[in-house]
Parts: sequence; structure tokens; C-alpha cells
Amino acid sequence: MTTNDLIAGQTALITGASRGIGKTIALTLAAAGAEVVVNYSNSEEKANEVVAEIKASGGHAYALQANISEETEVEELIKKILVKSNKIDILINNAGITRDGLLMRMKTEDWLSVINLNLNGVFYCTRGVARTMLKQRKGRIINITSVVGLMGNAGQANYAAAKAGVIGLTKSTAKEFASRGITVNAVAPGFIETDMTKELNADSILSAIPLGSFGTTEQVARTVRFLAADPAAAYITGQVLQVDGGMVMS
Ligand code: NAP
Repeated sequence: MTTNDLIAGQTALITGASRGIGKTIALTLAAAGAEVVVNYSNSEEKANEVVAEIKASGGHAYALQANISEETEVEELIKKILVKSNKIDILINNAGITRDGLLMRMKTEDWLSVINLNLNGVFYCTRGVARTMLKQRKGRIINITSVVGLMGNAGQANYAAAKAGVIGLTKSTAKEFASRGITVNAVAPGFIETDMTKELNADSILSAIPLGSFGTTEQVARTVRFLAADPAAAYITGQVLQVDGGMVMS
């Protein structure tokens, strides 16, 4: 069996797939034979480039705009996918933002915007695909959390709370859906080189990473591909898989 056999023909929705980790997940799942829905919020041109790159290498993809923080936009997004593809087999909850600041000075709007996308958005998308996956008696949900959700981080109370919430949501949903052939897992990256991390001080972070380097989007995407694949990950649910160079060991 080749890698292509593992998820070939399945429809995968990836939120926030126009850039960064989500983009690489889209390219990786498409290369493994999935039809990929490239969701984006603002970066229409970049999302179209991801779709073009997938099509140029013989894959299947289309882009759909939706602000994942907005319940009604998520509902519309799911409806459009069901009209176009008639199924959703894989959901990757990847869209995320940071609005960093010390708690004492954190603006309520910065707290809310991070919680609304990074936690509420995962809830909207999961609930949105649940009916379809339950009917199919088949599905894979993979939530991109963060090591910050495990260890906390000064200046990121909003982000850490959302990512820790995603871990609780992952485990609860895994328990609710297990009897219906749906697995739900989380991937917790450490520091991965993307737009999100480009402003950070590399030296201070590197000293906290036992493997001594930042991670790549490919390393996260291949982990996601493993969790989405049959039969490789069929017996794994409710887990948090860290891709962090050893930053957090429990
Ligand atoms: P990124 O490079 O900043 O990309 C973020 C993606 O999310 C973009 O495609 C963006 O699309 C999309 N997005 C933003 N707001 C959205 C919204 N309201 N609705 C739909 N899509 C939206 O971020 P990244 O580093 O790849 O991070 C991806 C995920 O990994 C996030 O959940 C992040 O928390 C997590 N993570 C990242 C790291 C890291 O070191 N980079 C570590 C741990 C966890 P538009 O451009 O169209 O807005």
C-alpha cells in the first residue's frame, strides 16, 4: 500500500489553509489523494494559489471563504461543501490567531477574538460536520492545539486558555463520537516557522527546545496525515500528539 491509498477519495475541510501550517496540511492531504477544501478568511489570492498548486500536481481542491469565528458563516461553509462534495470525511481545525499581551493589560476584545476563533470556531466546525460524519459512521477530526495549551505562557493567557479548551473539547468529542466510527485527536505543535512566529525572539526559544531547532510545517502536516489515515490511526482517539522537539515532556 502506498501513502496515496490511505486517504484517497476522501473529502477534507482544512480551516485556515491559505498560509502556514494549514497550507502545508492541504498540500500534504491532497498529495495523499484527498479532495481538499481550502478555507480562508482574508487571503483569497493565497488560497487560490494553494488550490492551483494542488491541481497542477493532479490533485483535487477548491477554496471557500468563511470567517470561522462566526457561527453562521461556518454553517454556510458546511452547507456549500455538502452541495459540492456530498460528504465530509476529514475535518482539520487549524485556523488560529494570536493577540498577545500580559493579562493585566489585555483588552477584552483581544481575549474575545482569540477565544472566538481558536476555541469557539473549533466547536462550530465540529458540530457542523458531526451530523454528516455520524450518518456516514466514519470521520476523522484533528484539532490543531499548541504546547502553550499544556504549559501556559506569559503574555498568552487568551491563546493558552483557548488551546487548553481545545484539548478538553477533543477528549469530550472523542468520547461522544467513538461508538460511531469517528476519531477525534489533537496535534500540539511547539514552535513552527510561519507568519505567526516570525516576530518572536528565536534565541530565547531555541534554548528551550531539546532537539535544538524550530519545527517545520511539513512535520506537523505529516503527523496530521498519519492521524487522518486508515488503517494506521484507526485505533487512536482522544489523544494529544506533540510535535515540539521535546519542549514539553509530561
Ligand atoms: P498563520 O501562518 O498565521 O496562518 C493562519 C491561518 O488561519 C491563515 O490561513 C489565515 O487565513 C487563517 N485564519 C485566520 N483567521 C481566520 C478566520 N477568522 N477564519 C478562517 N481562517 C482564519 O498561522 P500558523 O502558524 O500556520 O498556525 C496554524 C495553527 O497552528 C493555529 O491554530 C495556531 O494556533 C497553531 N499553532 C501554530 C504554531 C506555530 O509555531 N506556528 C505553534 C502551535 C500551534 P487568512 O490569511 O485568510 O486570514
